[in-house]
Amino acid sequence: MADVFAKCRLPATYQFVKDLGVYPYYQAIEERSAGAEVMIDGRVLVQAGSNDYLGLSGDERVKEAAVAATRRLGTGGGGSRLSNGSLALHEELEARLAVFLGRAAVMVTSAGYLANLALGALVGPADTVIGDRLIHACLIDAVRLGGARLRRYRHNDMGHLERLLDAGDPGAGRLIVTEGMFSTSGSVCDLPGIARLARVHGARVVMDSAHDVGLLGPSGRGAAEQHGLEDAVDVQTMTFSKALGTLGGAVAGPEEIITYLRHYARSMVFTAALSPGCAAAALAALGIVAAEPERRRRLRASAERLSGELAALGYAVAPSDRPVMAVPVGDDLLCFRLWRELFDEGVFTTAMVAPGVPPGQALIRVSVTAAHTEAQLDRIASAFAAAGRRLRLAPVT
Ligand code: PMP
Repeated sequence: MADVFAKCRLPATYQFVKDLGVYPYYQAIEERSAGAEVMIDGRVLVQAGSNDYLGLSGDERVKEAAVAATRRLGTGGGGSRLSNGSLALHEELEARLAVFLGRAAVMVTSAGYLANLALGALVGPADTVIGDRLIHACLIDAVRLGGARLRRYRHNDMGHLERLLDAGDPGAGRLIVTEGMFSTSGSVCDLPGIARLARVHGARVVMDSAHDVGLLGPSGRGAAEQHGLEDAVDVQTMTFSKALGTLGGAVAGPEEIITYLRHYARSMVFTAALSPGCAAAALAALGIVAAEPERRRRLRASAERLSGELAALGYAVAPSDRPVMAVPVGDDLLCFRLWRELFDEGVFTTAMVAPGVPPGQALIRVSVTAAHTEAQLDRIASAFAAAGRRLRLAPVT
């Protein structure tokens, strides 16, 4: 008889990678500074993989807001928002986010993952979801939860999206799903193209702004604001775990959709509410995003500097002012070895292999934050120079 647990051992490839001493995952961070440093195994490293883009996780005002709310309201969620966990603080955050994002209504969830999963309630077996090849796993999980059909178009390839729309059943409900700024590549979606095709084909548009709220657009409202096309996006999702430096998520859109989700989204109804500390931290961080646009400017300048340095070293990185940089490696093992070399050089990056990225397209993800000093950016670049030399990766080194 088959045992459902028989598969539960570390996959051979990971065991092999562990034996080689280059396994990059579940590194336990012992200490974290308000700047961009972490301590692992007693060593201080430059954190070059964090999504705390604006450096707000360690900001005293954000921490104080979390502490004060925790003192007043406790540490826990208390129950599901629907039944007994909703706080006036959640509603205050929802109202503030609605104004910030310029959307009629907002539903706050306990994680960004759960905000996206809530979208599963919007689609069913009669619908087709057409998503960019690089959309995040939780958007795919939402489609699965709803039981809708999923079609994928090549990353930002509007011709391919058009063909999929043309080929589909014109009677079926259609939802185009994209990220604003993509988490693995740092590229921004082709919203003008998506908006045009959605209009022509009567499709709805969802944008996951996990990585662009707080960063892109004149007010930090994200990629749609940057494109000047916020009306082309029907529903926008976001997380508090990146630019806002805490935990939690939100779905923003028309009143009737948000009311529907509050009652039918399983990831809202069947999980505990966001903790008071995180809700208060998100509120404080939002205030800073609005009041201190110089953080976004600093981040852009730092990103330009580091991406330029990596490109000059011969890595296939396009110089850009976006904080996420994908250093393509291709082969998984080579990616793990590069990660380890960088780690030994004192720089903590993220190794991404399938299923986080398409198979054969392993990469080192580097992210810049507003907390990085110039010296730390130089340290990241010189680690790449040394590692590239040793692995014979970057042609110029
Ligand atoms: N969307 C995207 C694009 C993400 O990258 C992530 C997390 N990496 C999420 C959603 C989920 O957000 P959270 O980690 O806050 O649950």
